[in-house]
Amino acid sequence: QPIVSLKGISKTFSNGTVALNNLSLDIRQGEFVSLLGPSGCGKSTALRIITSLTSPSSGRVEWPMEESRQKDHELSFVFQEPTLMPWATVFGNVWLPLRLKGVSKKAAYDEVMEALKGVGLDQFADSYPRELSGGMKMRVSIARALVTKPKLLLMDEPFAALDEITRFKLNNDLLRLWETFGWTVIFVTHSVFESVYLSNRIVVMAARPGRVVNDMAIDAPYPRD
Ligand code: ADP
Ligand code: ADP
Repeated sequence: QPIVSLKGISKTFSNGTVALNNLSLDIRQGEFVSLLGPSGCGKSTALRIITSLTSPSSGRVEWPMEESRQKDHELSFVFQEPTLMPWATVFGNVWLPLRLKGVSKKAAYDEVMEALKGVGLDQFADSYPRELSGGMKMRVSIARALVTKPKLLLMDEPFAALDEITRFKLNNDLLRLWETFGWTVIFVTHSVFESVYLSNRIVVMAARPGRVVNDMAIDAPYPRD
């Protein structure tokens, strides 16, 4: 049973741009799915429809594993920009999603530090975002997304703005975290390398109008130890 199921999603924006045409996709628990395709093929639109930031023109998004319709789907979103609050420390930034749920700093402490440890930044809990490199900011952003233990993690070209070496390091960190915690991830990218290196399923999309042209399972193409 899929976590989320896109059924015949089409999206035409008010200016007439057709971003998605009859997109259907099931995402199952534990999958690390790359949505791969050229710029403009509708990848971000598909993610935004899953999060309800954008509504589809037709079609439906279903969450079959949830009895209660709608509400909080327990998903987290990591954007290309880390969007950290500059006035808060690293700890404060990662605490934020728990704080919004009413969890005090004291009650959140262990979870926040665990999330920071997961991305290798527990030593930087008291630092401010301006003191961090781009790669470190992105790691804080990932820690913030994971601290709520989301059922589904959506990442929209998260590493596109980083240099290649930092990007490679983050790919490895992400892979290690996924292998440890086994969440479900949808990772939007136009990098064939990233999709092959990271995911166990690649969904290839084509532009004009956005639809799936290939959907393949890949079984650990790179030996890992
Ligand atoms: P991708 O993430 O694959 O680069 P997008 O989902 O961002 O693609 O965009 C798909 C298409 O929809 C593109 O042609 C883009 O220009 C268009 N588009 C995206 N957002 C809007 C919007 N708010 N209004 C009009 N057109 C949009
Ligand atoms: P990143 O790959 O995380 O962006 P950079 O290679 O840009 O890191 O390094 C920026 C500075 O931050 C370097 O001096 C590096 O030693 C330091 N740094 C980056 N990550 C960590 C970390 N996890 N622990 C300690 N120092 C770090």
